[in-house]
Amino acid sequence: MRILISGASIAGPVLAYWLTRHGFDVTVVERAPQLRKTGGHAVDLFRPAMEISEKMGVLPRIEALATGTDTATICREGTRRPVRVDITKAVSAVSDRHVEIMRDDLSEAYYDAGRDDAEYIFGDSITAISPNGEVTFEHAPPRGFDVVVGADGLHSNVRRLVFGEDAGRTRFLGGYLAVQSVPKSLAPVGEMVVHVGAGRLAGIYTAQPLDDARALFMFKSMEELQYHYRDVVRQKELLRTAFAGRHAMVDSWLDELDRTPTFYFDSITQLQLDTWSRGRITLVGDAGYCPGPAVGGSTSIAVLGAYILAGELAQANGDYTRAFAAYESEMSETVRRSRAMARGIAKGLVPNSRAGVWALTRGAQLISMLPAGLTKAVARLNTKGVRLYDSMQFKEYSTPVAG
Ligand SMILES: Cc1cc2nc3c(=O)[nH]c(=O)nc-3n(C[C@H](O)[C@H](O)[C@H](O)COP(=O)(O)OP(=O)(O)OC[C@H]3O[C@@H](n4cnc5c(N)ncnc54)[C@H](O)[C@@H]3O)c2cc1C
Repeated sequence: MRILISGASIAGPVLAYWLTRHGFDVTVVERAPQLRKTGGHAVDLFRPAMEISEKMGVLPRIEALATGTDTATICREGTRRPVRVDITKAVSAVSDRHVEIMRDDLSEAYYDAGRDDAEYIFGDSITAISPNGEVTFEHAPPRGFDVVVGADGLHSNVRRLVFGEDAGRTRFLGGYLAVQSVPKSLAPVGEMVVHVGAGRLAGIYTAQPLDDARALFMFKSMEELQYHYRDVVRQKELLRTAFAGRHAMVDSWLDELDRTPTFYFDSITQLQLDTWSRGRITLVGDAGYCPGPAVGGSTSIAVLGAYILAGELAQANGDYTRAFAAYESEMSETVRRSRAMARGIAKGLVPNSRAGVWALTRGAQLISMLPAGLTKAVARLNTKGVRLYDSMQFKEYSTPVAG
């Protein structure tokens, strides 16, 4: 059975790995000319994704590449005294099993785990998919596939081709997010420096394995801003408008905007599709159920979704109608809960007022002053909220082909 996956970031390579282990014939098409090692940002892997990575044999590599950022210095706009926060305590309250890693390093680890067993085509994109599985590409000749999977992110091409231009109801969560690469000398190693004011937050971090540092910006907006998601010049302009002139250190990061080799900007938007499959086509990861960048643990959900989709296709012997129904049913509660959690985090992460900024910094400071055991005990009372990932159970699938 021939399966085509669009997108080689996180969900795509994990899905390709498991599908080939189950004996499927897999092709992955990625728009970028090679695996994207483009700076990127740090992402969190929580318990289920850590366990799946362990089954894939890549966990030691992932752990070796962890960013190791364990403290944050938070500076409130208009005040002189920064607050130091122990990030490890806050994270351990959320999950007992967690690692933070740069997205590109994670993507490469998953790709390397299965690259020899699947066909990877870089620098190409699907242009049409017919109901009987005939696929045309920008460059490669047309080919037929039994199943097509969109693992091509929040702005998924497959989702647009299959569900139409307005594919999927999206919900703007009231903010924007940007990340850019800046010189390593601008950031201390092992520590994140954050400047926070009403409606905006800017931070910088680096890690031992990195050649550079990453400046991250989040800001609130009541309304959606007008720009195209590929119009980088306009996006940089919007970022400068939101942050310029607030603090000399933040200005020095903005000064790098015209030189930076890598820049990411997107709205914090949640996808709210009721179903993410149609006929022989389905979606995985951010393409189907992004809870919102940086607010809903979407990397872990992408890994989990890929593992489950592959397992269900194997269990149904390739009967995609049965497999997609089972996949959606297995994922639906996780997706629903992560959407709810993301909406809450998006609301609280960047406070709107000075009082909110004070409460956020004070809260973070208090958490980091509590003994770790107590933080975890308090958080454990809330399995539906912050402990979402640790409380997630997932099905085991037997893999007939040796890994
Ligand atoms: C700044 C930032 C911070 C984040 N922080 C966190 C975090 O702390 N924790 C967390 O869990 N998650 C975080 N995320 C989200 C995380 O990066 C994504 O959820 C995760 O990478 C999802 O993986 P994916 O494979 O589904 O999609 P993506 O990583 O978006 O990958 C999509 C892939 O498809 C490719 N593609 C796009 N269009 C086409 C096309 N037409 N044809 C072929 N290929 C195509 C792209 O090049 C890309 O390789 C963050 C995201 C951002 C932007």
